[in-house]
Amino acid sequence: MQPGTWYEATAGAPPATDPPEAVAGAEVDVAIIGGGLAGLWLAGALARAGARVACLEAGAIGAGASGRNGGFCSAGWACGARDLVALVGPAHAARLEEAAVAGREAMARRAFADPGLQARRGILTLGLWPDPALPLGPEAVAARVRGPRYRAGAEDAAGFHFHPLRLLQALAEETRAAGARIVAHCPALPRPRAPGWEVAGPALPAPIRARAVVLATGGYGLGDLPDLGRILLPIRTFIAVTGPAPGIIAAHVPTDAAVSDTRRAGNYFRRLADGRLLWGMGISAFGTDRAERIAARAAADLSAHLPALARDLKAAGVGFDFAWSGVMAYARHFMPFVRAGRDGLHLLAGFGGHGMNTAPAAAEALAQALGGDGGALAPFDAIPAPAVHGVLGRLSAEAHYRALRLRDRLSEAAA
Ligand SMILES: Cc1cc2nc3c(=O)[nH]c(=O)nc-3n(C[C@H](O)[C@H](O)[C@H](O)COP(=O)(O)OP(=O)(O)OC[C@H]3O[C@@H](n4cnc5c(N)ncnc54)[C@H](O)[C@@H]3O)c2cc1C
Repeated sequence: MQPGTWYEATAGAPPATDPPEAVAGAEVDVAIIGGGLAGLWLAGALARAGARVACLEAGAIGAGASGRNGGFCSAGWACGARDLVALVGPAHAARLEEAAVAGREAMARRAFADPGLQARRGILTLGLWPDPALPLGPEAVAARVRGPRYRAGAEDAAGFHFHPLRLLQALAEETRAAGARIVAHCPALPRPRAPGWEVAGPALPAPIRARAVVLATGGYGLGDLPDLGRILLPIRTFIAVTGPAPGIIAAHVPTDAAVSDTRRAGNYFRRLADGRLLWGMGISAFGTDRAERIAARAAADLSAHLPALARDLKAAGVGFDFAWSGVMAYARHFMPFVRAGRDGLHLLAGFGGHGMNTAPAAAEALAQALGGDGGALAPFDAIPAPAVHGVLGRLSAEAHYRALRLRDRLSEAAA
């Protein structure tokens, strides 16, 4: 097993960032805490509009979910279309769905502009049972993925997949070129200091003075951020990547598209540019980040769903070379919090497992709101903010995920 993620192993040198001294003691219009996709996208939009922006990231650029995810980018939100209408009503839901499509397209423009980002069109959804929403029949499915359990499918030709860490690194460089200061390895927290805010952290020789602060911290550090920790749960999810075996993998997964299945606690997978298979699985409110255990779970999943591929890989001596986890932020309703606080403390977090289009969409809306467009956040303001109840909430989420997995197994056995 190799250390770190496949993305880290294939991304090259980290992007240039600013030293903490470049922002320490400075006065900025907006300090953004968190340099994932949400924070960087917002930093770029604000800097291009002329604001003085500092974006502070606790780890390396892309160390959070944005640089270690499945790399799928499609329309929609984590909560699903029907639940979204029930949550905010049809008018706000329609605006949010439009924004989610615009988010996907903005990401596609960025991802396809640079061949190094390995973008490819196509996301295939597979079902284990016939389903009117999945028009591809068994033969069409078998031409794309050779797994005995998959019986129906649907293709999303506008969706795409890509190398998320490389995209994030390129975005960091562009955002800096647009005038934002980006500081990596700089954990920071805000505290009110009238007028405005001060942002301090152990790597900063002096606090930053900011008229406004945006919390774009995803699922990381929620324990130190009561404004978000009250309404978001950190949820872990897992990825493993096989050794290179381009011929074997293409024989069993002929499609270039990224693939996911419709089970309640489903899997997703895609072929990578260097002839490996990325396999994504599982969610847990407590789960492990031990690579060996994640790889063992991936091997069991692969044997269950693509048994012939698992057998051929084993015969060729190919196992899993990389395995890792990442943390997502989930509200109880699976929608993010994108809020402009009257006190200048703003929220941009909670994109769950569907952030590659929604984080840019939400960041654009927040940038417009901070630029004076009073209506830009109206659909987000309609999203309620129920408490997640700390450890009790995590226990209940874990029980829910386990129940979903059990229901999947029962219906697989009955199929
Ligand atoms: C394994 C995995 C697979 C996924 N697959 C997909 C997928 O295929 N498609 C999709 O659309 N979505 C996917 N997601 C979800 C997606 O990655 C997230 O929704 C998205 O990246 C969230 O972006 P973010 O900027 O809000 O959070 P993050 O990318 O997590 O960024 C938040 C950053 O804030 C930093 N931070 C936290 N606290 C502080 C602090 N006090 N000071 C400074 N910095 C701080 C963290 O270090 C982190 O880098 C996946 C997530 C995971 C974990």
